[in-house]
Amino acid sequence: MSKQVRVRFAPSPTGPFHIGGARSALFNYLVAAHNDGTFVVRVEDTDQKRSTRESEENIKEALHWLGINWDEGIDVGGDHGPYRQMERLDLYRQYTEKLLAEGKAYYCFCTPEELEAEKDAQMAKGETPVYGGTCSHLSEEQIKQYLAEGRPHVIRIRTPKHKTYEVDDIVRGKVPFDSDKIGDFVIVKSDGVPVYNYCVVLDDALMEITHVIRAEEHLSNTPRQLVLYEALGFEPPKFAHVSLILGADKKKMSKRHGATSVQQYRDMGYLPEALFNFLALLGWTPDSDKEIFSKEELCSMFTLDRVAKNPAVFDIEKLNWINFQYMKELDGPSLVTLCLPHLQKAGYVSENPDANTLTWVETMVTALREHIQYGAQVTDAAKVFFTDEYEPENEETADVLKEETAPAVLTAFLKELEALDEVTADTVQPLFKKVQKGVGVKGKFVYMPIRVALTGVMHGPDLNVIIALMGREKVVQRLRRSGLIAE
Ligand code: GLU
Repeated sequence: MSKQVRVRFAPSPTGPFHIGGARSALFNYLVAAHNDGTFVVRVEDTDQKRSTRESEENIKEALHWLGINWDEGIDVGGDHGPYRQMERLDLYRQYTEKLLAEGKAYYCFCTPEELEAEKDAQMAKGETPVYGGTCSHLSEEQIKQYLAEGRPHVIRIRTPKHKTYEVDDIVRGKVPFDSDKIGDFVIVKSDGVPVYNYCVVLDDALMEITHVIRAEEHLSNTPRQLVLYEALGFEPPKFAHVSLILGADKKKMSKRHGATSVQQYRDMGYLPEALFNFLALLGWTPDSDKEIFSKEELCSMFTLDRVAKNPAVFDIEKLNWINFQYMKELDGPSLVTLCLPHLQKAGYVSENPDANTLTWVETMVTALREHIQYGAQVTDAAKVFFTDEYEPENEETADVLKEETAPAVLTAFLKELEALDEVTADTVQPLFKKVQKGVGVKGKFVYMPIRVALTGVMHGPDLNVIIALMGREKVVQRLRRSGLIAE
């Protein structure tokens, strides 16, 4: 790549920040980083009904959270601003006037009814509906008169006829489009606001964008954009249309598949580094068998020629696995930061926990880390410490307490525990061996009944740690609750 690489992410702030948008932002970020280029973030807010500043704030916050920062654009500024389309209307107007003066664009006064009738007639004949060009032949005088009358109008671009526009896409190869199927399309609506296809071309051209990397759904817009590059006399950038993200059922990812926005994943307690790593692998294949990559590794490895043409499947199990790998690396306090909000939301820990509680929480989440893949799962894993709803989870578990030796084991263990001066993970650990010897059973017949009597499940963190976390009182109460203690 010879020219200084300049890429951009241009979200429409019209709702929650979708995972697909984050993936587009990330690919652009990685291309810029890999090539020592510039990453621009600007906003496409011409859909005034649906665009909100709140949504823009959400997008920015989510990008920063993910560790995707930009060199130029909204908030940071730069030499090619303004970076919101609604602040660029004057600029667009200048180019529209030029196009009109050159005869490359023209006013169209056709009414919605006329356009509808034309479209219906074309469809009835099985033709692609395109504008028939009624207003392309209006005389200067007619135009002046209609404008003076205040007739509602749009502005259309004059698309060359019988011409093939070819999108030379880095991901998809050459994709030809027939200009006769495009026709003279609207570039400025009747309210004076230019349409996406027009703004985006002016923005990309004036911001000197070298590579447009965006979702596949925009591929069909690209021929219109090529028509506009030609009319405006700008050289088009290189295009890379990245495949859709599908759910596990191979259908386009939507709310049916679960969480679709970055905020939802953050709120569920996924780590930004894990989501960053996961998103990079959604459609890009590294030249390596590894799956865990640091940001630096991704920046140095990422190239568009390894972006796949076929759709990427959003595999939540893989995200969970990646997140688990990153969680393993967290120190105690960071693990608490990730898990605490979930414990608070469940009502298990107060809003302002004291230092002792925090220390206890740290020991607990450290013990549970092997059993949770993301923050929100801590609630379920920790439930046993906070509620008394811990009946054996299934028949196999219930059978553990039906073992002939279970009453003797629980009784002996209770005695040993009561004799301890202090209940800690270290003081509890030797008790199991003692019980084993005293009752004369194998280890499993000691650990399992105690574990099930205390937690209702057969797996979990080390038993001595669970006991220390529960504290003597709760453990005694639960052992007794089993109904197996011989007095
Ligand atoms: N605003 C468009 C979107 O959010 C992006 C268009 C583009 O990247 O060209 O899908």
